Amino acid sequence: MLKLYNTLTKKKEEFAPLHKGKVAIYTCGPTVYDFAHIGNLRAYTASDVLRRYLEYLGYEVRQIKNITDVGHLTADDIAQADTGEDKMAKAARREKKTPEEIARFYENAFRRDEEAMNILPAHYFPRATAHIPQMIKIIETLIEKGHAYEKNGNVFYDVTSFPGYGKLSGNTLDNLKVGARLEEHPDKKHPWDFALWLKAPEEHILKYDSPWGVGYPGWHIECSAMSVEYLGDTLDIHTGGEDHIFPHHEAEIAQSEGATGKKFANFWFHNRFLLVDGEKMSKSKGNFYILKDITEKGFDPMHLRLFYLSSHYRKQADFSWPALEQAKTNYNRIAEWRGKLEDLSKSRQTDNSNRTLNVRVRYFESAMGDDLNTPLALSHLHELITETNKQISENSLTAEKAREILAVFEKMNTVFGLRFPEKEKEIPEEIKHLAEERLKARNNKNFQEADDLRQKIEESGFEIEDIEKGYKIRKK
Ligand code: AMP
Ligand code: ZN
Repeated sequence: MLKLYNTLTKKKEEFAPLHKGKVAIYTCGPTVYDFAHIGNLRAYTASDVLRRYLEYLGYEVRQIKNITDVGHLTADDIAQADTGEDKMAKAARREKKTPEEIARFYENAFRRDEEAMNILPAHYFPRATAHIPQMIKIIETLIEKGHAYEKNGNVFYDVTSFPGYGKLSGNTLDNLKVGARLEEHPDKKHPWDFALWLKAPEEHILKYDSPWGVGYPGWHIECSAMSVEYLGDTLDIHTGGEDHIFPHHEAEIAQSEGATGKKFANFWFHNRFLLVDGEKMSKSKGNFYILKDITEKGFDPMHLRLFYLSSHYRKQADFSWPALEQAKTNYNRIAEWRGKLEDLSKSRQTDNSNRTLNVRVRYFESAMGDDLNTPLALSHLHELITETNKQISENSLTAEKAREILAVFEKMNTVFGLRFPEKEKEIPEEIKHLAEERLKARNNKNFQEADDLRQKIEESGFEIEDIEKGYKIRKK
């Protein structure tokens, strides 16, 4: 069972998918004009843990993560985010490249960062630039249904036409504060209307033909177009960071529900921000980190992943180097423990231990089932480590029990998603020596001796595989 906090209803609700056994997740992906920062990576790790836990529960998950490579304008601190220069075009100027080169470069960098963080790849990463016709089609439908209007080649969503506007963020038209930063466009009927399509000035690089002339899409429309294309009218879960609640997700609801007449997403999952030393990350303060800054200081991406897991996704987390150092210590503790269990489980001892481990699994599931409480789940894991380490030091942990605990941990770890290095480096000298002798015997066509040496190596708990230029040894 999984209870999830739903931003739409503002309470924890029991999760149930629309179609039995299957879950459709749409995750707002990166705007590929720069490297992802560690705040963005917190958001993608949070939705990864969500997906992993749903898979742990046996659901077949389909996750779509869009790549924003057009239409996200620089002034996204202004309420409706439909003014300023296109972020892609600006980066292209900065780096003296084409917007396409910028997009492909940072998209690849993003995919590498996700891989390094052990974030499961989405089943598809659709690009906004490849879905302009789908966006145009929805805009046409919205115009037909009276939710949008065109003026001078610009198309705006008429927020007064959609009674549900504000249901996600609480920013209903009555509540929207006059003081909020809002840049009024002369063609808008109402100040809170937002752009679906904007007329492109002559010098604008990323522009497309449309029924309203040459222009480019607003930022919000791409997600409505790509989610329906790959997941259908109604999503089980839509994810993103807290800054997306308004205006981005509020606009997505107005567009999608306005066009289809159906509920857009059953669950809205939002992570809160990552701060740095108690402050909001910003380039000007110099407290803005990307993954490379972390690894250059000698940390592994898994230390960052464990740092994320150590706080609840719905609480602000404060990044600091000592906090990352602590996560590293905790990671090493888990890795060392896991290594000891692996070694022990190879020995031949057996016993009839009772299965108290089931209790641990229940604790883990009740923590994760309560709105993905990873810090609590981790504290149960650390208790298990303390208990097992004591048994190991007292020599009272048998191979069978070690195997059992290891299996429980590996199952939990399908959700934590921590990666551990292979034990390749720990091949003892004597085994390496036997392997060298065996290679010599083989080269001299002394196959009986080679076979005997292989047997010796295997009896010591290692496997040897012949490859083109020699051999590979690994622990069994
Ligand atoms: P963007 O590329 O700006 O659309 O952001 C990508 C994702 O990162 C979105 O889900 C944002 O809500 C999220 N995000 C941005 N800044 C932070 C932060 N400081 N902490 C956590 N999530 C963030
Ligand atoms: Zn989106």
